[in-house]
Amino acid sequence: AALPAGDPAPPPSLHLFSDPDEIEALRGNLLAWYDKCKRDLPWRRLRCRWRGHLCSDPSVLLAVWVSEIMLQQTQVATVIDYYNRWMQKWPTLQALAEASLEEVNELWAGLGYYSRGKRLQEAARKVVSELASQMPRTAEDLQKLLPGVGRYTAGAIASISYGQATGVVDGNVIRVLCRLRCIGADSSSPAVIDRLWDMASVLVDRSRPGDFNQALMELGATVCTPKAPLCGECPVKQHCRARHRKLFGKPTPVPDVEDCGVGGCPLCPPATEPWESSLGVTNFPRKAAKKQPRVERTATCVLERRGCHGAPEYLMVQRPSSGLLAGLWEFPSLPLALGLQEEKQREALADHLRAWTRQPVAAGSLQFIGEVIHVFSHIHQTYVVYSLSLDGDVALDPASSPSRWVTEEEFHASAVSTAMKKV
Ligand code: SF4
Repeated sequence: AALPAGDPAPPPSLHLFSDPDEIEALRGNLLAWYDKCKRDLPWRRLRCRWRGHLCSDPSVLLAVWVSEIMLQQTQVATVIDYYNRWMQKWPTLQALAEASLEEVNELWAGLGYYSRGKRLQEAARKVVSELASQMPRTAEDLQKLLPGVGRYTAGAIASISYGQATGVVDGNVIRVLCRLRCIGADSSSPAVIDRLWDMASVLVDRSRPGDFNQALMELGATVCTPKAPLCGECPVKQHCRARHRKLFGKPTPVPDVEDCGVGGCPLCPPATEPWESSLGVTNFPRKAAKKQPRVERTATCVLERRGCHGAPEYLMVQRPSSGLLAGLWEFPSLPLALGLQEEKQREALADHLRAWTRQPVAAGSLQFIGEVIHVFSHIHQTYVVYSLSLDGDVALDPASSPSRWVTEEEFHASAVSTAMKKV
């Protein structure tokens, strides 16, 4: 039937899952593999007790939620230790709702993307104070009602904890689906992402949606990896059109494959960058070139004094409560204009320190230590590091942002970023 004017044309069959038998077979193969090969991870252990039952045990819900937030942009191996400490400290929603931002930042220190921890705590507080401690039960409500819960996290919680048959799309799923269906258009474009969400929802197993979603992500993390996929061991290799293309020089024949790859298919690789046979299945997915991170320079000073027991102490100041690294502690720091000469840098930093210590600081007394580079997701930051030892007690200006003297041990236990630990 003709489409109503304005509706986008459906994608060619090469890029779709439309055969119910194939979908059924793929679900079965993937779940059987997952049951046998899934990694033993702490947030999965709790759920094992509930195998076969969906549960509304609040500790299981919290485990799913915390782990899904921590796993965004972060490797499993890094997350495990943070997750265990977090759940030990705040095993219930109520406990988490009562945590302070300072405590959350201290525990999150080093995990990066700090707003995740902050918003997780805010959302717990909201569930306890505004929702009578009842978590929303559908992906739609989770996303609508909880700060920091986006489409992916909402789908993960709803499918894993409540058995809602909703698909999820994260970086691993993008890679697997693009390869299964030879999608070579820019995988970060909204049009492609929408198609992948549609596909994930068509594929998700109706009786075990949470396991299916985890299996697809697990496949991407352990078998269908970015650079060296283990296609020979892949449980869904017979459904994979990229693999077929690699082996036979063309994708699996499908009825209207002729529609594809010529004449501007919106999901095929662009005509200017066609299939490159030496890349095999890693032709997919493709991303538009990343934007270059912004270049910034910041002068920072490790200001030291002798504490009352003779041990050295260091001045830490707190960052503003919003923006990059919100609420974290750092050595007194000052953003620098690019191209500023060393002498001017030193003078600007000395002026800045004067405001903290309320005593004259001679630019010449600052000792240059070196430079530390830290790459945030969107900023290439260079810290120009100086040090200065002060004699006697130094009164801090209470009118300035919060500041405190810490020992080395206290520094390591404080809410400081990885960049400051490098400094
Ligand atoms: Fe990925 Fe290879 Fe499996 Fe295809 S066959 S899904 S490319 S691991």
